[in-house]
Amino acid sequence: MNLFQEDNNRSSVLLIYTGGTIGMKEDPRTGALTPFDLKGIVDEVPELRKFAMRIDSHTFTPLIDSSDIEPSLWQALARLIAQKYDAYDGFVILHGTDTMAYSASALSFMLDNLSKPVVFTGSQLPIGRPRTDGKENLISAVEIATAKDSEGRAMVPEVCICFNSQLFRGNRSKKVNATGFDAFCSPNYPPLATAGINIKYNNGFIHRGQQNWHGLSIHTELDTRVSILKVHPGITGQAVRDILLGTGSRAVILETYGSGNAISKPWFLDIIREASESGKIILNVTQCLSGEVDMDIYATGRSLKEAGVVSGHDITTEAALGKLFYLMGTYAENDRVKMLLDKNLKGEISK
Ligand code: ASP
Repeated sequence: MNLFQEDNNRSSVLLIYTGGTIGMKEDPRTGALTPFDLKGIVDEVPELRKFAMRIDSHTFTPLIDSSDIEPSLWQALARLIAQKYDAYDGFVILHGTDTMAYSASALSFMLDNLSKPVVFTGSQLPIGRPRTDGKENLISAVEIATAKDSEGRAMVPEVCICFNSQLFRGNRSKKVNATGFDAFCSPNYPPLATAGINIKYNNGFIHRGQQNWHGLSIHTELDTRVSILKVHPGITGQAVRDILLGTGSRAVILETYGSGNAISKPWFLDIIREASESGKIILNVTQCLSGEVDMDIYATGRSLKEAGVVSGHDITTEAALGKLFYLMGTYAENDRVKMLLDKNLKGEISK
């Protein structure tokens, strides 16, 4: 659907609407929030008409609360972007905030050789509300998605999240505030841009390295057999065993304390060893918001390393999940997956 501006020589953006609070409206009778159409959203943001650009849209049906996101939506998004890639300068994805960091992370691994921006945004308050944050988020996302440098190249050819005047690398982002407008942060990587009077791009931190003449390619094979085990005081052997030795998973993300530490008791390490020897991939990700896993610092970390656990470095759990889905969907051999988990593929780790 063309929302406005027919002139084909102008910059162009495809607005992809998946659902989320940004597009919800209060039902006057029940007071419940329900999604409304994209035309309705854009009508709430007349400022978009001031941009000299063509804005087209694609709406997924049904529109969903992002708590219901499935990897099949990521596959559909990757295919849609590939199909429309040549027709637009950039892509803006309207998405619920709850799982936005998971979706942006996964897409960063699924889109290869990206030379155009793919900007996720949404809001904490529906766009029809007077104090909504959705308007500003949407306007900034659209501007960033079409921004070019003096040589005509995209300013930010990355999958990113635009929220509350900041642009974050998608696979570094986390939702950190359930109610405030500052819903996202990128604890281990600086913002890629900040919107004030002007949008200031943090050029030294923007990834431009992967573009080549082959153009965009997508990876839609995902192996989702991943479980997450968060260690905590009082965790039972049964719970650890169920997750680590369960037959349903090929990989387990182990959310550990501090710099990658977990329980040093023999029962725990025995289960880790047994899981690792049975071929399971175990990735160590810290529960801390920032900083990184270093299994050489403490004896508890060392024991995990010796038992076959792989370091996630400073990866977020959201990015670890997307990276594992992508790597396991692409490679049948676990050793190859483990080797690539240790590599910085899309700027997701500082290595
Ligand atoms: N539950 C909503 C969602 O993630 C929250 C939001 O959009 O902010 O879809």
